[in-house]
Amino acid sequence: MPAKILDGRVLAKELKEQLRQEVVGLKEKTGAVPRMINVMIGETHGACAYANSQKRIAEQIGICYELANLAQDISQEDLIAYVRKLNDDESVNGIMIHKPIPGHIDYRKVANCLDVAKDVEGINATNVGKMLLGETEMIPCTPAAVMEHIKSTGMDVRGKEVVIVGASEIVGKPLSLLFLRQMATVSVCHIATSEAGRLDEHLARADILVVAVGKAELIKGDKIKDGAIVVDVGINQLGDKMVGDVCFKSASQKASYITPVPGGVGPVTVVMLMRNGIEAYKMQKGIKS
Ligand code: NAD
Repeated sequence: MPAKILDGRVLAKELKEQLRQEVVGLKEKTGAVPRMINVMIGETHGACAYANSQKRIAEQIGICYELANLAQDISQEDLIAYVRKLNDDESVNGIMIHKPIPGHIDYRKVANCLDVAKDVEGINATNVGKMLLGETEMIPCTPAAVMEHIKSTGMDVRGKEVVIVGASEIVGKPLSLLFLRQMATVSVCHIATSEAGRLDEHLARADILVVAVGKAELIKGDKIKDGAIVVDVGINQLGDKMVGDVCFKSASQKASYITPVPGGVGPVTVVMLMRNGIEAYKMQKGIKS
């Protein structure tokens, strides 16, 4: 039987509505709404498109969203001074550092200057550490979106074999912690797993397979376990088409659930950013979740 589609646009719509209602409640309680600032250094077409989509979704939820456009050649010191100014501004509740950033900027240094309470992308080293300990709500947005998709299937993750392909700081590694928190058995595969010729054996036992590699249709359906839940994080241009890291056509014949690309993880990711903005606001106002 072909897989059920995990439609990110439908899920995003439901989550947006929940958040919109929450913001209405916060406005009644506090007289204000969360305010988020996206710090963009220089401008690329892709970065602007992503920022526009963030702005549109923030507006739908009722969050105040502003884009701070800084010059491409801003120095590291000036950028850090700018971020510190936002940290000190009580009217700002959430700060994002928009990627890509120019090569002369040390991203980690900037991330670590962010006020931990305003770090809505969960990139400050303190929030990364707190995530390991389960002590923060600032979960990086893409891993959070993956978990929302899994939750929407109703599957109890406890004791399941989860295989994550891709071990990046922004997706694979944090995601492994979220699955561990839910008592799954987690394997994280990466380029060396493939080089050692061992990727297929991991794929074959995955009840839940998440792929975040950035290689068009790397994983074919014949490698996937029957009935697996497949979440494809990858975004790749293949000719004039956008495709994932999983071959959707063949994988959807084996999986029980699968996310499409586009329209799977992406739409939910932006909503997760807004959720973090709301959490940051509540934390700063001393409002319990
Ligand atoms: P990255 O380049 O930082 O990391 C890629 C990972 O894949 C590495 O761990 C690498 O070892 C592994 N890898 C590379 N080739 C491999 C192979 N042949 N076999 C097994 N592992 C291999 O990537 P990233 O930033 O995590 O992004 C991955 C993909 O996800 C990209 O397509 C990116 O565009 C997409 N992405 C989507 C979202 C979203 O919200 N939808 C967010 C972030 C990233």
